Amino acid sequence: SKKERIDKILANLGYGSRKDIKKNIKSGMVKVNNEVIKNNSIKIDPYKENIKFKNKKINYRKFIYLMLNKPSGVISATEDNHSKTVIDLIDDEYKAFNPFPVGRLDKDTEGLLILTNDGDLAHKLLSPKKHVDKKYYVKVEGYLDENDKTAFKEGLDIGEKNITLPAELDIKKSNEISECYVIIREGKFHQIKRMFISLGKKVIYLKRISMGNVELDSNLKLGEYRELTSKEIDILN
Ligand code: URA
Repeated sequence: SKKERIDKILANLGYGSRKDIKKNIKSGMVKVNNEVIKNNSIKIDPYKENIKFKNKKINYRKFIYLMLNKPSGVISATEDNHSKTVIDLIDDEYKAFNPFPVGRLDKDTEGLLILTNDGDLAHKLLSPKKHVDKKYYVKVEGYLDENDKTAFKEGLDIGEKNITLPAELDIKKSNEISECYVIIREGKFHQIKRMFISLGKKVIYLKRISMGNVELDSNLKLGEYRELTSKEIDILN
């Protein structure tokens, strides 16, 4: 982190124009490390020093990172004319940062969705070259066997120019309704559903449980979210 002028820091956080902030500083409304400062041009490190505005501590940061347990029926977009979006599930204090979902889950898919305003991280996670693993829990109609595992590993023709990249199918239960885990390293539209369709099976339930080594927190109920820990942010980077 580097030092910045206190008036600039506060202006960037939306506490008013530089002029207003200068006035507030002169009248003693700003404290740094619990001492009133009257000089609007002092430079401080906003990540390391405690800033108070009208005696309220400022939580300084540029980026936010949330994990949401997306419920079915909600669109992974920032706006939609008809349906509820994942942004509608987020409190105003986070909305102020203009977060957006990192990638998409279908309307009827549940589970891990990361929301952030950090464009670089989103780009890293979504870049086709990076091949970030995404793990899903899937229920499908029809029996599953070794042939399906092999087919996932070798790549499936889902009607794209290329077959899918090697994916893993881990069968938990083979039955009329089967249960399995699937790991994919790309993110084509409806990819998992289309992979199963190419094998003549229909997905009836889909839930993402991890993305690049960050797992959905099992304490989060559908529609709930929490901030990523700094450890989780590091893992993703
Ligand atoms: N694959 C799908 O088919 N749908 C999703 O939402 C995610 C992966």
